[in-house]
Amino acid sequence: MVGGKRAMELAAAGLVAALGLGACAGGESPRRSALLLSLDTTRADALSCYGGGAATPNLDRLAREGILFERAHTVVPITLPAHASMLTGLIPLRHGLRDNGAAALPESATTLAELAQARGVQTAAFVASIVLAPAFGLDQGFEVYGSPGREEGSDEARALHGGERRAGKQVDLALAWLEGRDRSRPFFLWVHFYDPHAPYDPPPGTEGSDPYLGEVAAMDREIGRLFAGLEADGALDETTILAIADHGEAFGEHGERTHAAYCYEPTLAVPFLLRLPDGRRAGERSRAVVSVVDVFPTLAGAMGLDPGPGGLDGSNLLGAIDTERSIYFESYYGYITHGWSPLAGTVDARWKYIHSSEPELFDLDVDPAEEHNLVASAPERAARLRESLAGFDELEKLSASDAAIDADLIANIQALGYSGMAGENAVLPAPAKGSALPSPRSQSSWFDAYERAQGLRRAGRLDEAAAVFESVLRTNPADYQAIEELAGIRYGQGRVAEALAGFRRLTESGPGRARHFYSLGLCLSATGDLEGARAAIAHAVEMAPNRPAYARTLRKLEARLGG
Ligand SMILES: [Zn+2]
Repeated sequence: MVGGKRAMELAAAGLVAALGLGACAGGESPRRSALLLSLDTTRADALSCYGGGAATPNLDRLAREGILFERAHTVVPITLPAHASMLTGLIPLRHGLRDNGAAALPESATTLAELAQARGVQTAAFVASIVLAPAFGLDQGFEVYGSPGREEGSDEARALHGGERRAGKQVDLALAWLEGRDRSRPFFLWVHFYDPHAPYDPPPGTEGSDPYLGEVAAMDREIGRLFAGLEADGALDETTILAIADHGEAFGEHGERTHAAYCYEPTLAVPFLLRLPDGRRAGERSRAVVSVVDVFPTLAGAMGLDPGPGGLDGSNLLGAIDTERSIYFESYYGYITHGWSPLAGTVDARWKYIHSSEPELFDLDVDPAEEHNLVASAPERAARLRESLAGFDELEKLSASDAAIDADLIANIQALGYSGMAGENAVLPAPAKGSALPSPRSQSSWFDAYERAQGLRRAGRLDEAAAVFESVLRTNPADYQAIEELAGIRYGQGRVAEALAGFRRLTESGPGRARHFYSLGLCLSATGDLEGARAAIAHAVEMAPNRPAYARTLRKLEARLGG
């Protein structure tokens, strides 16, 4: 049903079209193209136009010829869910992707690419990491969805680099696609760059001593090549360009090395640059509170597409922006991976509230470094913000996808340190709920030790790694990930009784993921308890029917028991 306001808008558009006043009004095909550049792991304050240390003349050009948003935030400092929010205009709570490798975007989602494609726009995406593989559903609506394949090197290199495709390759693919497109129709092209993500290894010859800034500068150089291609093609002045990061990188601030676990500004604040094709608002610097969820409505508006009757969490930034706006954010990474309290919160033009078992309130105007927690001195404000956070849980949610995800892909995502719990229906607590679990902040002192231990394990220095995990468990005996890592090491060393005890804890009082039951079964089988092994592995198969290895092991066990 068409509501009153919407009916008036449609009538007005019809009138404009009837009078022949405007080429892109009403039911006509959109004429304008859009280019989305998503810069993985790129801190706003790395770019020169934000005062940073990387030479980024091409992204700076977007700031000079367009709008630079000074207060942009992601909704979750994790690659897959943040990109899902860009493409759907919904917060993670509503689109349902909460961690990398955990689920696919539901078919019922309407993505920007689907909206564009339905109106005759050509659509293409080139993503640079397996974290955004087509199995995770962001390919909805893209006629072409290029993602890293086997040619990206050995399994080990793929695991370490997220199956990374370098910026140069990404731009080659994008330019080749632009060259072959149908010039009678506009396009929506999304190019994802993964270079600034760890490990920081800029291409040889990149000037400067900081390898991270070198990666950002090298990415910018390739973006310049893409702009030159668009310019030579004549498409630049018909194309809206939006460059944004999915999250930043912490570099030790607040005790975090990379991103995902915490919700402080080094990982939540992102660059956001918007260049309109007609040079409107060139050089503007906006203090409006904006977010990755604004990508969908803003680019839809720029292309002349109607995103439908509301219901989005994002706003079209080409229209008036609500100055009272409050943006939702979350990280359930610590909850899913370590058994910490979930993190969720809101940020507005001044106040930032982070809910957990130890809530935090910051006045970003006077304390941008988030060093002075005001929860105790401003309890009423904190309570009000907590209440508004609870309101986000009332919004309508997409129903979860039951799409099966390839077992090898899940294993590669797990190797990157993410949950890879796809196919296991885990119910996550509501964002403003109370929690008795340790707050992520309280765990930061050993977080570094933890990451060091993972490095030692990957390097095959198992005893040293085990010693670090043991020390982690002395301070936080309930840490799921440390229990699992230690049990895995012990199993590999043939110390089966110790491994068995670890996996028993995970299945009896921990999160009990399918892979924990599977590992428990392998340990039981090694001790000769074949009946116990069969029960544990049958449970794993039931939880995750999409993993052929689990089903194979179960058949072998049944053959041994039956024979
Ligand atoms: Zn990312």
